[in-house]
Amino acid sequence: MRTPRILVFALCLSTALTAFAAETAKYVSSKNSDVFHRPECRIIAQMKVKNLVGYTSKGEAMSAGKKKCEICKP
Ligand SMILES: [Zn+2]
Repeated sequence: MRTPRILVFALCLSTALTAFAAETAKYVSSKNSDVFHRPECRIIAQMKVKNLVGYTSKGEAMSAGKKKCEICKP
């Protein structure tokens, strides 16, 4: 089921991000970042949902040019 993004923001940003990560990927990055994270990393909470990019493996993230986060150490 699709939920309008504005409603997702109104509900709870961190819950929305966790749901996004759990549904789509094991690792998460932002279109504006060259670092990838575990879904539970606190850095992700600072990203805009529309910019999030998911990866199913570290290899996929690294082949996309992303580096490992030094905080969550994926
Ligand atoms: Zn991280």
